[in-house]
Amino acid sequence: MRPDLLNPLFAEVETLKGVGPQLTRGLHRLDLRRAVDVLFHLPTGSVERVRAPAASPVLLGRQVVLEVTPFEARQSAGRGPTRIYAADGEGNVITLAFFNHGGWAKKQLPLGERRIVSGKLEAYGDQWQMVHPDVVEPGRAEPPLKESVYPLTEGLTSKRLRELAAQALERAPDLREWIEPSLLQQRGWAPWRAAVASAHAEPGDTAVRARLAYDEIFANQLALQLLRQVSRRKKGVPLQGDGCLVAKLRLPYELTGAQRRVTEEIRGDMAQAAPMLRLLQGDVGSGKTLVALLAMLNAVEAGAQAALLAPTEILARQHHATLLKQLDPIGVRIAILTGREKGRVRDSVLMGLADGSIDILVGTHAIFQEKVAYRNLGLAVIDEQHRFGVSQRLLLSAKAARPPHLLVMTATPIPRTLTLTQYGEMDVSRIDEMPPGRTPVETRVISDERLGDVIDGLARHVAAGGQAYWVCPLVEESETSDAAAAEERAAVLRQRFPGQVGLVHGRMKGPDKDAVMASFAAGELAVLVATTVIEVGVDVPNSTLMIVEGAERFGLAQLHQLRGRVGRGSAKSTCLLIRGQTLSETGRARLALMRETSDGFRIAEEDLKLRGPGEILGTRQSGEAAFRLATPELVQELVPAATDDARLLLDRDGGLAGPRGEAARLCLYLFERDQAVDLLRSG
Ligand code: ADP
Ligand code: MG
Repeated sequence: MRPDLLNPLFAEVETLKGVGPQLTRGLHRLDLRRAVDVLFHLPTGSVERVRAPAASPVLLGRQVVLEVTPFEARQSAGRGPTRIYAADGEGNVITLAFFNHGGWAKKQLPLGERRIVSGKLEAYGDQWQMVHPDVVEPGRAEPPLKESVYPLTEGLTSKRLRELAAQALERAPDLREWIEPSLLQQRGWAPWRAAVASAHAEPGDTAVRARLAYDEIFANQLALQLLRQVSRRKKGVPLQGDGCLVAKLRLPYELTGAQRRVTEEIRGDMAQAAPMLRLLQGDVGSGKTLVALLAMLNAVEAGAQAALLAPTEILARQHHATLLKQLDPIGVRIAILTGREKGRVRDSVLMGLADGSIDILVGTHAIFQEKVAYRNLGLAVIDEQHRFGVSQRLLLSAKAARPPHLLVMTATPIPRTLTLTQYGEMDVSRIDEMPPGRTPVETRVISDERLGDVIDGLARHVAAGGQAYWVCPLVEESETSDAAAAEERAAVLRQRFPGQVGLVHGRMKGPDKDAVMASFAAGELAVLVATTVIEVGVDVPNSTLMIVEGAERFGLAQLHQLRGRVGRGSAKSTCLLIRGQTLSETGRARLALMRETSDGFRIAEEDLKLRGPGEILGTRQSGEAAFRLATPELVQELVPAATDDARLLLDRDGGLAGPRGEAARLCLYLFERDQAVDLLRSG
């Protein structure tokens, strides 16, 4: 349980003074739900003002606070501004211009009375001018000379956020230091509470930002180390299949050399009592699913159960269908569990898992929820790992008396510092060879001015019996507007291709999505319009044309995934990247890179250089935002130190019982790694 002294910070935002329903809505839109969220919502910059006795050329273009005396007000004809002429301390004339709010301005600035105004000082002809200055009412405080500016949304102002942050800060106790003293000294970092205070007051202070990022990373690394400590103590189960099931498989092709090699590596790990923690990297289309299947059969042969976690519902169903075809004939029992299986169906799956009549479970996050109890889970396979966070892993390991072997599969090569933050140290296997008979995908970048040509090309493709994907971009950070854009595109294409266009997006009901995917896979639909729900893993070999609209708005790793949906058969495939007309230098370079290479590793590497590591673990993709205080750059910089620090602390004080250990527990609670603290008790 969280210590009492942190509770005020974890109270809902409604408990802050002055927060009513409307403000709450605004705060929730930024995902600020509790005081602590407001505390960690840091400003991105600040405005600075100059207090001056009079206007002067050096102040041009700056925010200036001036004392003035208005002497004339003039309303221009029609819709023009109201101008109030005023004299500053040295008798210079300053024009204060107000569009729309003329009446208000005249009340605020009575002629002959001194007032403080604050705004940007501009030149208008040979006169001084301020447009819409703030006017300080008599007796009120002058605006501060420096004010922090926050990321905002509708209904919120920086001023409001500053006030709320100040309230949240009042609730923040002084916490005992958890950072290793020598590191603290070497970096010259302030204590935690002082650091949070300065992060709000001095947005430019990089040392302060680094300290807070470090805290967050440290909590994460400490949680991982605890997990490791506990799972080392809890032995896993050695699993050594006898090959009887694998021998019965009827595969339509030979394994590639790389598939064979990594399968052996995995079997070697699983034969040990120490639980496997292995990352399987293999480019899009390299055949990771088959490797997962072989690993799962190995577990089943040895009498254990296996679970495969997919990032999306569509992919879970596809995996289930593919595996069912292979497993049904050899008598291995497989089931699926997602958010959609409810009532009787769900109950019977849960029962089958508990009594061991189900050998392999495929599904989405539902498969590792609290209520799901396995009789004997020996292997967990995570497909496309960036959606599987530390807290989920904590959950999975904490509940098992004997932790399962863990295999994480990814097409995106992730920089080591970033895997360190999700998994700690792990072994890596690489599939560095594609199945034979693939033809490279031809990639072209086309301006959206030529959308008509693209649709004509699509028509020729469809007339020749081909199928195609049409992917619509993320419009905003909202699934609703993404869906609207996709619907609009589908409507346009349906006019041209009546009865042949299907649509899937994230807002659709599961069964509806399935129905569309199924008829596209069966060849009944020629064109599948989609948002990025098809990004990962969908496999329809007959579809050989991929059109991506607004390509510049996608991450390169995403584009690579999308392109990986075509080029799966021996027929020649094409990927058309449609770009907007205004494109930055970097934007151009990125799309050019897509045209140049189909090597996922190189793409990820270059993307890292062009955009920084945030792209790879972008929050939108990650399902659980990786970090909120640590930017990708700071993650890169601070992970090694935080990892060492966490390890050192646990070496000295494995139960986190000493003074620094106590402090570190607070840090874990502050960053909501509560399950890690629970591990201390259960271990
Ligand atoms: P990914 O690594 O992207 O998950 P998949 O497992 O979906 O790739 O495999 C891509 C395609 O390659 C599938 O259609 C699969 O059946 C096929 N495939 C996998 N292994 C081989 C192989 N050894 N030879 C030929 N085709 C293969
Ligand atoms: Mg896959």
